[in-house]
Amino acid sequence: MANGKINVAVENIFPLIKKFLYSDHEIFLRELISNATDAISKLKHLSSVGEVKGEIGSPRIEVKVDKDKKKIHIIDEGVGMTSEEVNKYINEVAFSGAEEFLEKYEDNVKDAGIIGHFGLGFYSAFMVAEKVEIITKSHQDVPAAHWTCDGSPEYTLEETDKKERGTEIILHIAEDSTEFLEEARIRELLSKYNKFMPYPIKFGTKEENLPLPEDAAEDAKPETKTVDNIINITDPAWTKTPADLKDEDYKSFYRELYPMQFEEPLFNIHLNVDYPFNLTGIMYFPKIQNDLNLQKDRIQLYQNQVFVTDNVEGIVPEFLTMLRGVIDSPDIPLNVSRSYLQADGAVKKISNYITRKVADKLSSLFKKDRKAFEEKWNDIKVVIEYGMLTEDKFYEKADKFMLYPTTTGEYFTYEELEAAVKDNQTDKDGKLVFLYASNTEEQHSYIETAKDKGYKVLLLDSPIIAHLIQKLEGDKENIAFARVDGDAVENLIKKEEATVSKLSEEEKETLKPLIETVVPGEKYTVQLEAMDSSSLPFVLTQPEFMRRMKEMQQSGGGMMGAFPEMYTLLVNTNHELVGQILHTKTAKKRERLIQQALDLARLSQNLLKGEALTAFIKRSVDLIK
Ligand code: ADP
Ligand code: MG
Repeated sequence: MANGKINVAVENIFPLIKKFLYSDHEIFLRELISNATDAISKLKHLSSVGEVKGEIGSPRIEVKVDKDKKKIHIIDEGVGMTSEEVNKYINEVAFSGAEEFLEKYEDNVKDAGIIGHFGLGFYSAFMVAEKVEIITKSHQDVPAAHWTCDGSPEYTLEETDKKERGTEIILHIAEDSTEFLEEARIRELLSKYNKFMPYPIKFGTKEENLPLPEDAAEDAKPETKTVDNIINITDPAWTKTPADLKDEDYKSFYRELYPMQFEEPLFNIHLNVDYPFNLTGIMYFPKIQNDLNLQKDRIQLYQNQVFVTDNVEGIVPEFLTMLRGVIDSPDIPLNVSRSYLQADGAVKKISNYITRKVADKLSSLFKKDRKAFEEKWNDIKVVIEYGMLTEDKFYEKADKFMLYPTTTGEYFTYEELEAAVKDNQTDKDGKLVFLYASNTEEQHSYIETAKDKGYKVLLLDSPIIAHLIQKLEGDKENIAFARVDGDAVENLIKKEEATVSKLSEEEKETLKPLIETVVPGEKYTVQLEAMDSSSLPFVLTQPEFMRRMKEMQQSGGGMMGAFPEMYTLLVNTNHELVGQILHTKTAKKRERLIQQALDLARLSQNLLKGEALTAFIKRSVDLIK
């Protein structure tokens, strides 16, 4: 029996550990199970290099809760420790045995998968326990050791008679931590942190149905037998090579990761790199809604199959945090702040690698089966557009697979689009104008008018499209995007041969004030325009610039300050009805015509509501009766 004092600089380190080491007390279990896992990895390694003789079997870990005695046991069948090792590794705080192990076996230990580098991992036990015991039997032929410590720097270390190789950690749970004596709580923690750890972890038992005998009756109940309840999947999909996985394997792993998620992922990207950093993982593209906010915290970060966090900010580029999946990398420093993380060179490389893999995958999907890619476009476009906006490298690559759909269901790449509309949609100054709509229902009449001219109308409806358009206009030469309801189509793409106005200058000068007296000036600016006689008499438009700025502001960024709801009221001087307005003698009748034409214009913009709508209907009935 030995009594000793743990050699720490601070007189009583334990309260400090309790307070500062980890804000989350629950991680004690992760740390202890990680140590148990390391112990098994070490055993396997020593066995593979011949330092441990004989069969080692398939070592396991067991977690037991003894609520009555207020104890939690974590038992492993790993290397164990001699009492010298307990002295060295446990008593010398901050002395990481794993680190020494790594140094000793540096080159061939890589694939042994050592988790421990959290430094004070073992001592996190004192966050929840008032007393901790270690009963451990080394693989070496020496007596087992029993270490006890009640949270003060004093400990006892004595011989004991444990026969089987391995270590048992006993936590005497403190009064303020009794929540961890609840089986359900431990089950929850195991499922959160240890679901994909590499060695079987037993927690209690469960009943399993035995197969029914062949001659069993229809309604026969199968017999059950009690089996160990293993809580983890020891070989999760991301640890395998892509060649060994079928599509179904990826899907079923997705279900393991997100049991509450009923929708299948669209496709996945298997990450696998070992130089200049180590990283494996699988990223899934779920269907992305047009709402950007609700979809983060879905990617899980692991280190050697131990769950660390689902906040991957700084590690995964922002636009990819909308994806799901797992990333497993021992090379991500975790005990540092997020801002440090973002500046870290290795993490930068990891982030770039992930971006590149995603871009490559999208590019290959596009090349391999364009039709299927087009079908998925609606569900993935937000990620791609967001990526183009925020990552220059991604922007360059995405130019080849970013799609521009039309309102009639065609899909163009940028290059194809340019070729398709160049002849018809270049204006008199040589600027190529891409027309687009954001809503085929609401902008229906504008789309039709543009189509009548033989123009192609794109359908661009993501919440961030205004930002992307802005960027494209800045990057590409001499092009512009114009929403179909931004102006009369004749003005959106100005051609040499302007439409001639049927009204003379004097007639126009008489007409304008007539209309302005009826139309509320704080909302509408009246503008006379010679358009096709087949176009509507009055057309409401909202200038592209104003509208775009407003949209950009709504989705973040852009200018500050509220934009007023302002429209231009285009009056088609070539329309019969407008001529009629001009020549109507009675003021009352003229007013009614103007009002009616204005309401029709508002109606086609979906702006006629409430009282105005009721008045319009009443007036219309009067007109036809
Ligand atoms: P780390 O895991 O970072 O090395 P810990 O404080 O978690 O730090 O553990 C300290 C050391 O104690 C380990 O490196 C290991 O040598 C030893 N150890 C802890 N738990 C076990 C165990 N279950 N079996 C064998 N050795 C263990
Ligand atoms: Mg550890």
